[in-house]
Amino acid sequence: NRSDYERPHQSLSWISSPDVSHLLSGPHRARPAHPLNNRTVCSPFLTTHVENAMLERTFAMIKPDAVKANRIGAILQAIHSRGFEIIGLYLHTLSALDAQMLYREHRGRPYYDRLISFITSGPVVLLVLERDQAVSQFRLFLGATNPAQAEPYTLRAQFGTDIPSNA
Ligand code: ADP
Ligand code: MG
Repeated sequence: NRSDYERPHQSLSWISSPDVSHLLSGPHRARPAHPLNNRTVCSPFLTTHVENAMLERTFAMIKPDAVKANRIGAILQAIHSRGFEIIGLYLHTLSALDAQMLYREHRGRPYYDRLISFITSGPVVLLVLERDQAVSQFRLFLGATNPAQAEPYTLRAQFGTDIPSNA
């Protein structure tokens, strides 16, 4: 399900309190990188000097399982190492309403109630990330929803346990 990534500017509209949602909308989106920002990006997916990169922003969230396991630092370091800049960061426990909005596309599925109770079970880290091609590149780096099926270099393989506890 990729619809949340195809509409990255809408994906934080459900969050009322944290001061991160505005970072995804408005004039910040998909602007040309400053020439001095052009840099060599190294990853399994892309090793190039990016000229005239178009910076994008995307929403990401470190889930309660990874926060409880003290993996925030390791995950942020991994994200940095793939060329993403952290533009917004907020530690926040989602309300039931937040969770229902975030996962509205999953309503009615057999796993829905378990998913909502998991995602509200403790603090999450809300992130706004910036990079060239941030949306597609973060999806690649995130990996498959099921950590058991994710490529070894992905966040899901490295930090996830199972579904829904997939970091
Ligand atoms: P992703 O997080 O990889 O973008 P989705 O957007 O499809 O995946 O689903 C959102 C979250 O819902 C998943 O990360 C996972 O925690 C949970 N989820 C999805 N499918 C299932 C499932 N079959 N059983 C339990 N939880 C699920
Ligand atoms: Mg998704």
